[in-house]
Amino acid sequence: MEKKILVTKSSMPPFEEYMDEIKDIWVSHWMTNMGAKHRELQKQLKEYLKVENMDLLVNGHMALELSLQALGLSEGEVITTPFTFASTTHAIVRNGLTPVFCDIEPVTYTIDVTKMEELITERTVAILPVHVYGHICNVDEIERIAKKHNLKVVYDAAHAFGETVDGKGVGSFGDVSCFSFHATKVFNTIEGGAVCFKDEQFGKDIYRLKNFGIKNEEVVDGVGANAKMNEFCAAMGLCNLKHVDSEIQKRKKVVERYREHLEGVKGIQLATFQENVQTNYAYFPVVFDKDLFGKNRDEISDRLSDDGIGARKYFYPLTNEFDCYKGQFDVSCTPIALKVSKNILTLPLYADLDIEDVDKICNVILG
Ligand SMILES: *Cc1c(COP(=O)(O)O)cnc(C)c1O
Repeated sequence: MEKKILVTKSSMPPFEEYMDEIKDIWVSHWMTNMGAKHRELQKQLKEYLKVENMDLLVNGHMALELSLQALGLSEGEVITTPFTFASTTHAIVRNGLTPVFCDIEPVTYTIDVTKMEELITERTVAILPVHVYGHICNVDEIERIAKKHNLKVVYDAAHAFGETVDGKGVGSFGDVSCFSFHATKVFNTIEGGAVCFKDEQFGKDIYRLKNFGIKNEEVVDGVGANAKMNEFCAAMGLCNLKHVDSEIQKRKKVVERYREHLEGVKGIQLATFQENVQTNYAYFPVVFDKDLFGKNRDEISDRLSDDGIGARKYFYPLTNEFDCYKGQFDVSCTPIALKVSKNILTLPLYADLDIEDVDKICNVILG
């Protein structure tokens, strides 16, 4: 059996580096509850992400779920995209809010701002767009629409770690931007997440929500959850942060190799570069057009799988097609998202992926 190529492989620091980092924890016996590692990671990430305010959480999903709560959104409609990970839509629904699905752009796969305003009703309270594969949404237009209609904006920035738009940290857009530091992301804390935000009161509110609603030893004035990042995760973050720039550079090399093989091939659409965006090379999505390419996405996926290559149908199905939402949404309202979702495949991409493996993957696709 040949070696398998997985769709991703988590970045990890050298073993000794992590051991070194966690030694302090054996001295302090402080394993969680916003200890020294948590504080240090928060400080370093704030700088790295070029944002004014940020707080760490147990994962990206709780960042989204608690952000909506901290903004006081408990009823009404949220305009969002179905072309995303389950988490985005679940965060809305789990807060008792109703997702209203807007279609996406055919090139960046982000929410189509030209179709957003017609979806706004008296019940609309917020917009929850996603920077899909690190493509940045049309943040200016979203801000304009949100201001005009008095809506909150929460970005799902899970794919956009470390990116900048015209030099500005991507976390500085909207009322809140939520990051994921899951093991599979460009930067990880094993499991983890963060919120970046403008309003200091929001910061106090989400801090309390991640810690049971506890205000002080004798006062609990919120119905909070538990979404604290622990010290071992924060320590992993401190180690990984030292290497993330070189990891991104290695990803870039992989992406460039893919492009050498696949750019310009009829019936293959690659991700687009956004001129004003410093990208993080998080994903390598490819959209196949069977009429032009000769094979459809599922055939390619099966072929790769036969050769031990794990590409992923991501995002497929759309969240408005999920079994748990059966009968609630009309998928035909988001036709572009539906089409992209049926034809897209994200190819293996991680810092240590061998260039020869990229060649092999492309040969299988083109062969
Ligand atoms: C990973 C991801 C999340 C969830 O983050 P977790 O840290 O896994 O909870 C949410 N949205 C998108 C788009 C993601 O890719």
